[in-house]
Amino acid sequence: MEYQGIAAASGYVLGPAYVLEDQQLQITRQTIPSDSIEIEVQRLEDSVSRAIREIAGIKEAARQRLGEDEAEIFTAQILVLEDPEYLGAIKEKIRSEKMNAEAAVQEITEQFLTLFADLDHEYIRERAADLRDVSHRLLRGLMGIQSLSLSAMTERVIVVAHDLTPSDTARLDRSKVAGFVADIGGRTSHSAIMARTLGLPAVVGLQTIAAQVKNGDFLIVDGNAGKVFVNPSENMIQTYRNKQNELTGINEELNQLIDKPTLTRDGVQVELAANIGNPEDAKRALATGAEGIGLYRTEFLYMGRKDLPTEQEQFSAYQRVALMFGQKRPVVIRSLDIGGDKELPYLNIPKEMNPFLGYRAIRFCLDRTDIFKTQLRAILRASAYGNIKLMFPMIATLQELRAAYEVLEAVKQDLSKENIPFNAAMEVGIMVEIPAVAVLAEQFAQEVDFFSIGTNDLVQYTLAADRLNEKVSYLYQPYNPAVLRLIQGVISAAHQKGKWVGMCGEMAGDLTAIPILLGLGLDEFSMSAGSLLPARALLSQLTRSEARRMAETVLALNSAEEIKGFVEKEIPFITKIRNN
Ligand code: PEP
Ligand code: MG
Repeated sequence: MEYQGIAAASGYVLGPAYVLEDQQLQITRQTIPSDSIEIEVQRLEDSVSRAIREIAGIKEAARQRLGEDEAEIFTAQILVLEDPEYLGAIKEKIRSEKMNAEAAVQEITEQFLTLFADLDHEYIRERAADLRDVSHRLLRGLMGIQSLSLSAMTERVIVVAHDLTPSDTARLDRSKVAGFVADIGGRTSHSAIMARTLGLPAVVGLQTIAAQVKNGDFLIVDGNAGKVFVNPSENMIQTYRNKQNELTGINEELNQLIDKPTLTRDGVQVELAANIGNPEDAKRALATGAEGIGLYRTEFLYMGRKDLPTEQEQFSAYQRVALMFGQKRPVVIRSLDIGGDKELPYLNIPKEMNPFLGYRAIRFCLDRTDIFKTQLRAILRASAYGNIKLMFPMIATLQELRAAYEVLEAVKQDLSKENIPFNAAMEVGIMVEIPAVAVLAEQFAQEVDFFSIGTNDLVQYTLAADRLNEKVSYLYQPYNPAVLRLIQGVISAAHQKGKWVGMCGEMAGDLTAIPILLGLGLDEFSMSAGSLLPARALLSQLTRSEARRMAETVLALNSAEEIKGFVEKEIPFITKIRNN
């Protein structure tokens, strides 16, 4: 069986499927005959006892591995399962509405979570996360779904999910994962970006694959063509083993470039930086030849946990990266960008109709200055240990930028008063990812030290095409001439004011886009670690003047397809290095 989706992270991988458990929780409401109601209540009670036994086992393992404090989380979960109010409400629902236990658990859990959402208190937020975890365990027990533990797998698996959210991805044991496939998502959804960062082949936007694949099915993931084969023929397996070998050959050649500078054929130096989500990614980026970090997505520090990271935890993470990269290699840290597809369940922010247009990033931070200030303190403190620059995401207006500066200034003053060292001259820039800012780039350039163009969002807002929705992925085109003109305007406005411009959207690592961006004068290209060496190899084949001519030509074309076709025909090296 063959599925076509969207190529999210290149490479080929073959192996067994691991279907993420919660994807299987499709709950339907059923009416129970009156004489079976007590049997249904008993089923619930059995599932509760089983869940308590399971959690007690996990608690003991956590105590031995991580210590008493970590294990206490599980005591809280057991308390939820012993809470007479919660269980009483579920039983009452089963009895009064003759409802099956699964549907009753789901409805009562949602009622409790809605109540919690109105209470803005850290303790309550933690209880909400416990309740969510516990209810999933109860439901799995009721539905007879075996908890297949990733850590129990002896070989690396291909994770199959309906919707693989960034927080799911952050929780996965990466040493056990060889690739990803998901029904939902586009090339720039954050799980796709994480797959590229980790060098794991991935295909998204497959629509129905999670419902069709079973644990243990053998899969081939073709992350170049966006194809997935389920239980393929021996012939097909052989074809892909050969492709893997070819790719290994290309990668060995590329590895020669790890320590080389990034120079065009005519000797122009551009900065090739990496996008990271945590210090581990930074290590990998450095080992792959990154000349800096162009985007540190700090929100990943806030994920896969039950509460906000403290100032000290954040400081340690930022300081580690700053020290790793030293004074010569800049590290651009982006302040918290949650919202969109990056949720933090423990903050209990109500669901929104259009999360990408809603309460996210700088909008959230300017509202929750308590959270914002803690992060800015940590970033400023880390700035004493390396070449850190700060950037604000999702700026839409000059007023927002000025408000963010005000908070930064207040934090600097506090640190000075406390005699805590920081770099007072730390550069501050903004992401250009909202068309309004691209249009007014000249005004913004006067008030920042640099721009970093975030094409992942800029493309979706310019074309009104959701970056996660595979149905509109045909519109989501970074080569669209409207996007290219916005980028051209931003670069030239910044250069007129003597400011540098980077790009940290996925477009910066896209081999077809690189010649155009070089021609438009981009100063810094920041990308997933896996794209660094192909980009360096390509840049070494180009000259600035050829690239300028090419940019001029494509800006006069009128469709993304024509532009892509033109560049790839002019530079056959692009197709060769992509290995397809
Ligand atoms: C972008 O929008 O291009 C970007 C880099 O930010 P994110 O992908 O985290 O939204
Ligand atoms: Mg963005």
